[in-house]
Amino acid sequence: MVLKDWVGLVTGIVISSIVTAQNTVGSKVKRYNKIGSLKVDTTFNAEYLNDFMIPYQEFADLHNCRIKIKNKKLKTTMAARPHFLSLLMGKKNRRYVILVNKNETFKGVHLKDVPTEARVGLFAHELMHIRDYESRRMTGVMERGFQYLSYKGKKKVEHYTDSLTIAAGFGHQLYHWASYVLHDSDACEEYKSFKSDVYMTPVTILSQMEQTPNRPRP
Ligand SMILES: [Zn+2]
Repeated sequence: MVLKDWVGLVTGIVISSIVTAQNTVGSKVKRYNKIGSLKVDTTFNAEYLNDFMIPYQEFADLHNCRIKIKNKKLKTTMAARPHFLSLLMGKKNRRYVILVNKNETFKGVHLKDVPTEARVGLFAHELMHIRDYESRRMTGVMERGFQYLSYKGKKKVEHYTDSLTIAAGFGHQLYHWASYVLHDSDACEEYKSFKSDVYMTPVTILSQMEQTPNRPRP
């Protein structure tokens, strides 16, 4: 083979590998949209992003946090967690995940059924979990994980997160969320009773809002 043929062969291989790579990228289904520090599942992006942005835009302290919103099978409507391995990599590198339940047989509340105002309250609550994690060192975040193992601990964390949501100006929307879950949703009685035990009830939210005056409301 002469040099000319070698050059031709190598060029051919390079071009075909570039074309193959482009085809692979082109045919890969896009699963996430990147919006600043957010990485959002494409279905969530299409259906809920506008509502999610209502509280998110108010929380400037979270805009640099790396948060991924993804679907997973859960025993609740949504959950916010730190990415476990990133906890070991220092606070600067910490990442969070907000999970949306994709279990269709779940007997609790499905996000698609939740009215907009209540949904905004739920999103604000999940973002307040991240504000809470951000205020903690690694050991403090681990402590939150241990609290979740007991009913009493879970109640303490969820009430605290609800109180952060009210203090952040989203009490009204949180009230709609709590009220929807207990009075208007199709959730089973067992789930409703769990919710009213572990989270603030609508009445508690209203009374706490009264004790938290002059907070900005969006
Ligand atoms: Zn929560």
